[in-house]
Amino acid sequence: MFVIMDSRASDEDIVRVENRIRELGYQAHTIHGDTRRAIGVTGNRGTEDRIYLEGLPGVQQVIPVTKPYKLASREIKPENSVVTVGNVRFGDGGVVMIAGPCAVESRDQTLRIADLVASKGAHMLRGGAYKPRTSPYTFQGLGEPGLEILAEAREQTGLPVVTEVMNPGLAPLVAQYADMLQIGTRNMQNFELLKESGKLGKPVLMKRGMSATLDETLMSAEYLMSHGTHEVVVCERGVRTFASHARNTLDVSVIPAFKQVSHLPIIVDPSHASGKWTSVIPMALAGVGAGADGLLVDVHDDPSHALVDGPQALLPENFQELMDLTAKVSAALGRPFNLHSTATG
Ligand code: PEP
Ligand code: MN
Repeated sequence: MFVIMDSRASDEDIVRVENRIRELGYQAHTIHGDTRRAIGVTGNRGTEDRIYLEGLPGVQQVIPVTKPYKLASREIKPENSVVTVGNVRFGDGGVVMIAGPCAVESRDQTLRIADLVASKGAHMLRGGAYKPRTSPYTFQGLGEPGLEILAEAREQTGLPVVTEVMNPGLAPLVAQYADMLQIGTRNMQNFELLKESGKLGKPVLMKRGMSATLDETLMSAEYLMSHGTHEVVVCERGVRTFASHARNTLDVSVIPAFKQVSHLPIIVDPSHASGKWTSVIPMALAGVGAGADGLLVDVHDDPSHALVDGPQALLPENFQELMDLTAKVSAALGRPFNLHSTATG
């Protein structure tokens, strides 16, 4: 259930309600909206205890939440959430561009590509130091030295960094280096990883499982949120279908459906969705057209020698084209797409 506070409710009123919720044996999650505050209650089975909350000072209304996810639901928070990573804002109506190599391969490769995407106006840098690979015989990532390289790339470019965390035990280490933690598609239902990652006080980019329904996706976001972080951005990265012309099928239709039921931002990864660089730009623009709050794209300056996912990486000139077209589509939709301040144009 969900306690809506009166717009004039004081801080003491909020604390009193939070304490009462805990006395009842439940958890309280205070949410700050534009005009009023509200307190999400989790851990309760039914809503009969609402009578103990309804009469408290400052409480306007107690309402049941009908969805299985609570904190991620628009029923609890009607207005869009804005997730902030450094000076980057997801969900404020603008379009965020995250770009970089699939994997951190070496210091030189990462610093070079980081400079390149920054100079073209990307807002954040991506790159995996821990790689989930289908084959145990392929490159698995550089591990902690890769995280150090990402931190150096951030210093050099000013771009906040998002990188994948695969293992609950390593989550605190990854959080020391990253500005945003990435949960990969294969780990969307690794519940121990979600619990640990949610506790670390860092924003999380959670990729939709490759065969997860919308409800399952939001239940995983709920794991993160109920363990501490409300700064969750979801990423559609393609789902498994019968189609053989692409690695996965980008489910553009999930974007409006997601936005109807959740206040969280959602972005699109057209690179992992298609697996082919020739499809990345059209799929990216389709994502923006459908209302995605941003894009996550693989960029490499030597894709034929990339250690991971070379065939889907955009070359520098293709990335420039993507930036130009994203600016045009965003402008046509009346959505801000401001280039990162170090962009050289
Ligand atoms: C990635 O973004 O590096 C990645 C491995 O993607 P996914 O989890 O979507 O396959
Ligand atoms: Mn990849």
